[in-house]
Amino acid sequence: MKSKVLIIGAGLTGLLLAYRLKKSGIAAKVIEARNRIGGRIHTLQSKNETPIEMGATWLSTQHYELLMLLEELELPVFEQFMEGITLFEPLSTAPPQQIQLPTNQQPSYRIQGGTISIINRLAEFLTNEELILNEKVTHINYLKDHFEIDSESATHYVNKVISTIPPMLLMNSIQFNPLLPENVIDIANKTHTWMGDSIKFGISYKQPFWKENKYSGTVFSNVGPITELYDHSNAENTRFALKGFLQSGLNTYTKEQRKSKVLNQLQKLFGDKALEYLAYEEAVWKQEQNTSIHSEKFIFPHQNNGHNYYQNGFFDNNFFIAGSETATRHAGYMEGAIHSAQSIYQKLI
Ligand SMILES: Cc1cc2nc3c(=O)[nH]c(=O)nc-3n(C[C@H](O)[C@H](O)[C@H](O)COP(=O)(O)OP(=O)(O)OC[C@H]3O[C@@H](n4cnc5c(N)ncnc54)[C@H](O)[C@@H]3O)c2cc1C
Repeated sequence: MKSKVLIIGAGLTGLLLAYRLKKSGIAAKVIEARNRIGGRIHTLQSKNETPIEMGATWLSTQHYELLMLLEELELPVFEQFMEGITLFEPLSTAPPQQIQLPTNQQPSYRIQGGTISIINRLAEFLTNEELILNEKVTHINYLKDHFEIDSESATHYVNKVISTIPPMLLMNSIQFNPLLPENVIDIANKTHTWMGDSIKFGISYKQPFWKENKYSGTVFSNVGPITELYDHSNAENTRFALKGFLQSGLNTYTKEQRKSKVLNQLQKLFGDKALEYLAYEEAVWKQEQNTSIHSEKFIFPHQNNGHNYYQNGFFDNNFFIAGSETATRHAGYMEGAIHSAQSIYQKLI
């Protein structure tokens, strides 16, 4: 298989880079391990067709490269609903406190139709030969004038390779020949993967019953299992859901056990109507082999994100380590992924 540029990973970084290259007339191919595109952007259509974000959800006005991309792709945003009473659970022995949050000076926004809309719009520009799913890259061999890249069922002969997978995963899932410099391997092994150990859940309802009692749907809890919760109704306000994060230690429980704990807490907070749900969805990111690796080491959030080492090419400037965690601004976030894609694009052209 011959193509000039090979991009590993069809998340936001990989797809935006492929889109920009294609628009400039540069042949590129994206190889994706999962059977879906988007990586850490993963919008599920729940039973009542509520788009539920299992991954990236919010952006702010500081994320200007993302806002410009959304404008270019003609994708509108809407404000996160926060009106009403917020609940705060400080202790398991005390009832939840009712708080009126001050008006947000810097509101969060969501993307209409779900965050996956950006991914789908970018992927529309690529053919089936340019975007290959279900193919995990396993080996990167550099032979001075070209690369031989092994994926599960093919070898790809290319001139330039861009990895967009989180650096720690890259070091622990792909074999290099020759090896990357030792200091780069060391830093990558200590580079935090944003949200790599998070658990997200979404629960959809026929009606937004929490609003009837003037609740916004926002909850902050030290008690758990839900640590944060938000209204997750759609932009048109015709489909209703709540979405939040669970304590990350619950990754060893079964889905049924987590669901039952979630329902208990929601019933305690909002009453019996919370039990009349349509669908419960969740994503345990620590178990996602194409995002996280098991590591005993504690890595601080954002540790080594945007490190200098990621700003240079390797193997005679023919191999680049990209992806949100390598960005020099807003690393870990969608904005970081976009910044990374655009700066690699500038280097390539
Ligand atoms: C739960 C959660 C909540 C988040 N919330 C927000 C938010 O509200 N706002 C925000 O801005 N950001 C948020 N983020 C972060 C945001 O999702 C990421 O910054 C962004 O999507 C990263 O894009 P990426 O392309 O750099 O990496 P990824 O999305 O991780 O893409 C890498 C791709 O590489 C693929 N891959 C891995 N290994 C291989 C291999 N060997 N061969 C081929 N392909 C491979 C993966 O399957 C994946 O598709 C959140 C993330 C999560 C998980």
